[in-house]
Amino acid sequence: MERLKHLAWAGVVAFVLQISTLIAPLDEVLRTWQVFSASFDASGDIVFVGSGTDLAEPSVPSRREDLATLVERLDRAGAREIYVDVVFDRASSPQSDQRLNDALRSTQGRAVLIENFATAVDGSNSLEGSISTIKADVPRVGGQIWSNFLGYVWKMSYDVPAGTSRIPTASVSMAGQEPVLGSFYPISYFFNLSSIPNQRFEQLLDPEVDLSRYAGKTIVIGALNPPKTTKPNIPGTAAVPPSLIHIYAAETLKAGHHSRTLDGIVSLGGLLFLLMLVALFEARRWRMAANAIGILALPLALVATAHFAIMMDAACALMALAIYGGLRARATWRRSFLLVDADTNLPTFAALEADRAIIQDLPSIIVARIHHFEEVRRTLPKELHTEYLLRIIARLTAATKDSVIYLGKGNMLAWTMPEKDSTLVREHLEGLRALFSSPLQVGDNTVDASITFGVDISTSPNTTRRLAAAVSAAEQTTETYDPIILAESTSDEDLIWNISLQARIDSALTNGEIYLVFQPKVSVQTGDLLGVEALVRWNDPVRGHIPPDQFIRQCENAGRMAQLTRHVLIEACLAGNEFNRRGIKIAIAVNISATLLHERRIVAEVKEVLAQTGFPADQLVLEITETYRISNLDLAAEILTEMKATGAKISMDDFGVGAASLEALVLLPFSEIKIDRLFVSRMRDDPKAAGIVRSVLRLGEELRITVVAEGVEDTQTLNLLRESGCHVAQGFGISRPVGFADIVSFQRLSNDVRRKNIV
Ligand code: C2E
Ligand code: CA
Ligand code: CA
Repeated sequence: MERLKHLAWAGVVAFVLQISTLIAPLDEVLRTWQVFSASFDASGDIVFVGSGTDLAEPSVPSRREDLATLVERLDRAGAREIYVDVVFDRASSPQSDQRLNDALRSTQGRAVLIENFATAVDGSNSLEGSISTIKADVPRVGGQIWSNFLGYVWKMSYDVPAGTSRIPTASVSMAGQEPVLGSFYPISYFFNLSSIPNQRFEQLLDPEVDLSRYAGKTIVIGALNPPKTTKPNIPGTAAVPPSLIHIYAAETLKAGHHSRTLDGIVSLGGLLFLLMLVALFEARRWRMAANAIGILALPLALVATAHFAIMMDAACALMALAIYGGLRARATWRRSFLLVDADTNLPTFAALEADRAIIQDLPSIIVARIHHFEEVRRTLPKELHTEYLLRIIARLTAATKDSVIYLGKGNMLAWTMPEKDSTLVREHLEGLRALFSSPLQVGDNTVDASITFGVDISTSPNTTRRLAAAVSAAEQTTETYDPIILAESTSDEDLIWNISLQARIDSALTNGEIYLVFQPKVSVQTGDLLGVEALVRWNDPVRGHIPPDQFIRQCENAGRMAQLTRHVLIEACLAGNEFNRRGIKIAIAVNISATLLHERRIVAEVKEVLAQTGFPADQLVLEITETYRISNLDLAAEILTEMKATGAKISMDDFGVGAASLEALVLLPFSEIKIDRLFVSRMRDDPKAAGIVRSVLRLGEELRITVVAEGVEDTQTLNLLRESGCHVAQGFGISRPVGFADIVSFQRLSNDVRRKNIV
């Protein structure tokens, strides 16, 4: 399943990023964001006393004496511990140095010096503390902090090396905890900065100030602006006194936040699990909601964990989400442009059209048409539909040297081959057809498969047009007579003409260049005019009269078939009204291309035109042409049944030519068939053709369907038809397609005169 595959990829890439620590900076950004979404109060037991001046400045000995006095007074007031976060690395006056040492020692170990240590070039560490006069017999703790390149300090060590042993860091000592030797813990910044009590050093020097409120508190005395170090950042506040980092670290330990962390790998695992559940959702509607949950899960988890002061590393989960999202978006994009078929994962015809290599190498384009595709699918359970297609494709690829097979709508497949010699292409395809003579195994079912081919070997760089030509050739193939058809290559001049033709169809429809002629359908017995067939004509100012055979395909390619049909329908109904007004009550037949039966829109069109023109529906005949092009007979049957319900008659045009005629006759609600002129025009000379016409006439009787013989070119044929029991005929022998006025006069002529009219 594609979704799970994408998920696995996202997981693996994110995992690698995580263990390579490449995404650590992102973790810090997310942690900062987490800090903003929750806040906790610090214990308040640790007080920061900041001095505005440098207490260690050797030229001002009074500052060391002031510090000594404050330490003594705080100790007397009952302070629990007093940390001095100042390094006195140079001697001041001997008295002041001694005074400070005395004061620190007088607290019996409650006053502690915080010392930085430096890393030497060889990697060894040494404490770089105060001069010995001051630190003699005073306890010391480590004070080094590590800020990253963004100036943040995210972790603190439990202890630092001091000579041959190790001493705890200030925060561990303040929190009264045992150090975990040589390891680090994360600092939590969930505490509000304002909940950490702080006081100016200079203010506390006033002897009037009551220090008893510091009884039991831990005091940290440090510089507000230490002269030699850059001040670190904490989330939300830039450049804070470094002593605050120790206090945050100590508060972290006191509150136990250091153990409340959610590892990046755990977050990743959680997210992947959630996305996996989401991916398993089959129903599309629910999957959208589930996806939304999957996307929101991460920020929600960050906020939720923040409320429990849990520091969550979500960077790699976020990366996984981004990668997964990217992969899914790409898949959806490809699908939305229909370059890939969702069921089979095969490239579509659109992908073939977009293939640059085809424009360059101009290989032959082969389109295979699968016969009885819908019918076979109907006999198979739904879950085998895709497999059926894949079986056919597997058989094709076995013989096409593993060409890429492209999937068209319905029953068409396409591929390319370098061979352009038409004879060799034919031979190859004959062989391929033979391969399909043995049935396919689909699940437990054995099904027959028959394919025919349309080929384009032209050298036009317009792949879309070449593919369309091959498709159209494939549509004209028949299983028995014409299984392989090569598309006729059009010259460049024709090509340009065709293109401009497409552009002009629209204007031609509105400015009257497209008009109708009518060909009579008469009673074979009496010669009475029964109806007319409306046939479209295009009188182009430049090219003259363009026969419909030439521009109807163009209309179709340009997507104007519906417009053209609507135009013809309206004109035909208006003409019908006019005939009625003159007392000529005849049926009007309009040709409807089978390709319009792929959509329900045509039903509404017919109803609309009938309503608009007020032409009686029972005088309208809809001749369905090119029935072999119906790819979905079920849908076509529904559409035709609805059209028939309006009262119009449905006629099957060109009966006998094109594949699947009988099948369409069985499945679709026809009330008339028109025997193709191929048979009628030959019946005089060819007993076989005559036999076919007679049997179709009998078929019509049997089915109680009117049979119209079209293409009647002479009296002999008309006589033959009369003898065979044919009732309705149409053809040049009776009348060519003519204008409205000619139909009116045709009606007035007597039988005899009509016979003389034969051309
Ligand atoms: P069709 O529906 O089979 O129409 C009959 C065609 O046969 C007409 O050609 C007509 O002039 C011709 N014909 C009639 N009697 C004879 C005859 O005795 N001998 C010979 N050799 N031909 C005869 P046309 O008008 O050129 O139309 C060609 C095709 O174009 C039509 O074939 C029909 O499929 C299509 N067509 C025409 N008008 C429309 C339309 O409005 N909509 C659609 N969708 N197709 C149309
Ligand atoms: Ca027709
Ligand atoms: Ca016909």
